[in-house]
Amino acid sequence: MCQEHKPIGNPSHFEGTEQEKTTAHAVDGTFAQYTQGMKFFDPHVHMTSRTTDDYQALADAGVVALIEPAFWLGQPRTGLASFKDYFASLVGWERFRSSQFGIKHYCTIGLNSREANHEALAEQVMEILPLFLQKEGVVGVGEIGFDDQTAAEEKYYRAQLELAKEMNLPVQVHTPHRDKKKGTERSMAIALEHGIAPNMVIIDHNNEETVKSVLDQGFYAAFTIYPFTKMGNERMVEIVKQYGPERIMVNSAADWGISDPLAIPKTAALMKIKEVPDEHIRLVTYQNALDAFAQSGQIQESDFINGLEIDQTQKFNGNTVLRGGQAPRVNKDSLIIR
Ligand SMILES: [Zn+2]
Repeated sequence: MCQEHKPIGNPSHFEGTEQEKTTAHAVDGTFAQYTQGMKFFDPHVHMTSRTTDDYQALADAGVVALIEPAFWLGQPRTGLASFKDYFASLVGWERFRSSQFGIKHYCTIGLNSREANHEALAEQVMEILPLFLQKEGVVGVGEIGFDDQTAAEEKYYRAQLELAKEMNLPVQVHTPHRDKKKGTERSMAIALEHGIAPNMVIIDHNNEETVKSVLDQGFYAAFTIYPFTKMGNERMVEIVKQYGPERIMVNSAADWGISDPLAIPKTAALMKIKEVPDEHIRLVTYQNALDAFAQSGQIQESDFINGLEIDQTQKFNGNTVLRGGQAPRVNKDSLIIR
């Protein structure tokens, strides 16, 4: 199917309807009092779509590192150069922007499922992927997998699994919002068919329907906290209580749609309130994501555990995050949670 025929208003991470709205709001405005001293790792957040205010809020809330998966931009790209520039920005300008707020930025690189359906362009993208996958700070192939579960999506999912295997990189799998159970099972079966070890695969966007099978088969199970939709953080707390913390990780998947980049600290606060043990909170909001993606050999915890040095007077190719006349904020203390 051609991207142009997709309905509009159908972003990658927010597919909720009015009926699906739940009481997924976090502990509004007060979460920080429960997360004092905690550090967080968000393994799925599209910072390119977010503002410097978001970076500042993430840093203030204790997010010390994050992973930005390559995905689609809300509308289809029309040429290879757009992909190239986007991938380059994930390892370039965006990483720099993140560093200016003391947050270590990693990324995964891949051809997303929606744009896999534009086969002529997909072929060209496949050719440049190895180059970008070799770059420093690229911690996996992602986010790849199924959207509409078309033949073309399967073809490029398989091709990218092979790339991941060759390059010994973890795989970050986007599971479809429609027909999720089937799409998730299919994604796992195909990964196993390609001989990928399940512990090298992070199955994303899980829910109550998919989690058991994902964990039973040895995969990592990531959960995206969607505001007002299927996976609110109250349900997340129940899942951690039921399944324990092993191989489970929480992410925000914040992008250009309705989303909350502070989903992880807010969920941690809710877990704390609901008496989830501190160690379990640490595992699902920090350590498991670190362990999963550190299998790339590209993550050194010592690089960020005590915060990055922030110097907003630094430049990237002559550009800064400052505008004329702004005073730089050179302050490592901004990492302390208030
Ligand atoms: Zn995403």
